[in-house]
Amino acid sequence: MKPISMESYIKKHSQSNPHSNPESIRKALKEAVKSKKNGETCSTCGSTIWALGSAFAGKECFTCITGDTDSSDDYEIREVCW
Ligand SMILES: [Zn+2]
Repeated sequence: MKPISMESYIKKHSQSNPHSNPESIRKALKEAVKSKKNGETCSTCGSTIWALGSAFAGKECFTCITGDTDSSDDYEIREVCW
């Protein structure tokens, strides 16, 4: 995955979703990053969660959220991008 800072992602997301609320995105992202740091795992398959996706879709891994196994073109918040 490609690392991105939380603020850059919020900016990016707000540009493509003009009606979204940056404050609630920030809150959801922080929560998801914290969950990943705490070692929470995907509620479906038990893999490490995808913090960025989990902020919007619930605590799941990249594959369960997107149905895709190739995450090389997708972002993850820098501090939990491992
Ligand atoms: Zn999963």
